[in-house]
Amino acid sequence: MKVRVVGAGIVGLACALRLREAGHEVELVAADRPENTTSSVAAALWYPYRALPEQAVTRWAARTYEVLAGMLDRPDTGVSLRTGRELFPRPTGDPWWADAVPTLERVPPAGLPTGYADGLTFAAPVVDMGTHLAWLLDRVRSLGVGVTWGRVRHLTDALAGVDAVVNCTGLGARELVHDLTMTPVRGQVVIVEQNGLDAWTLDQSDPRRPTYVVPRAGTIVLGGTAEESDEDRAVRPETASAILERCSALVPQVAGARILGHRVGLRPARPAVRLEAEDHAGRGLVVHCYGHGGAGVTLSYGCADDVVRLVSERA
Ligand SMILES: Cc1cc2nc3c(=O)[nH]c(=O)nc-3n(C[C@H](O)[C@H](O)[C@H](O)COP(=O)(O)OP(=O)(O)OC[C@H]3O[C@@H](n4cnc5c(N)ncnc54)[C@H](O)[C@@H]3O)c2cc1C
Repeated sequence: MKVRVVGAGIVGLACALRLREAGHEVELVAADRPENTTSSVAAALWYPYRALPEQAVTRWAARTYEVLAGMLDRPDTGVSLRTGRELFPRPTGDPWWADAVPTLERVPPAGLPTGYADGLTFAAPVVDMGTHLAWLLDRVRSLGVGVTWGRVRHLTDALAGVDAVVNCTGLGARELVHDLTMTPVRGQVVIVEQNGLDAWTLDQSDPRRPTYVVPRAGTIVLGGTAEESDEDRAVRPETASAILERCSALVPQVAGARILGHRVGLRPARPAVRLEAEDHAGRGLVVHCYGHGGAGVTLSYGCADDVVRLVSERA
């Protein structure tokens, strides 16, 4: 089939890659280049955060874990596997997505920092998004996917000349398909120089101010915030100072690390990820794949497999 993917974040690029590999003729159009998307801001730790429904998210996350783990021997993909800990001030049960991760263990009480009563430890893929998005764009182009930059105003325009459109517009779905259930959840992070840190650490006991330290090859991402319906894309210096303070308290090794930059992104949150096919006014097939909240990287390749299935079964 001839398919046009709209969106060049992690979701659009993963869908374009898998559709092309499945033998479809694929074009990609996006308003923003990968380096200017929300995806480029992601930490990007594999972790099912702020995305539902539970059963499908667990399945998509498990599949994506497997795919990312399969890229570990390819440094050009920017994927690494790092063990880390999520810490809790009170005893807690296993997360609902526990089946998505190969092994999940409790941190022994003696290993918990002061102020924490429980902890989980597991190995998770971490994706350097600058590297990974560039790799994906190169990869789809090398497979013959034509890429153009521009905003799509109406889905009917996007359907011109193709059999199917895959809508991977993230928060842009608010305007493109008038999806008023979308909520931006603002996230701000500080990027510091890597200073030998291997393990990630997460404490999301304050839902508006999750604290996380995620090491990558050359940098460490310090976060963060989760501010509902806040669309301010400007870096707030006072928020950056608070992030540095919280992260340094959680992981003393990052205290004083040289600051390389600041980023802000709006997570495309929705009560549930929208992944479904729709016949569009007799003009062709539209497959929607957006609303991945704080887990777009974590769910990307799993969702892309479902998109391929929905497109291919109509061929
Ligand atoms: C601070 C922060 C930290 C995060 N950390 C993690 C993490 O650790 N792990 C994780 O899994 N996720 C994380 N996320 C969430 C993740 O970034 C998102 O879930 C993911 O980027 C969503 O990807 P997407 O491709 O759907 O959307 P986007 O990356 O926003 O891409 C959307 C694309 O669609 C295009 N588009 C939109 N409207 C139109 C239109 N009308 N016409 C043409 N093109 C259009 C845009 O230009 C863009 O190319 C984090 C997010 C933030 C902000």
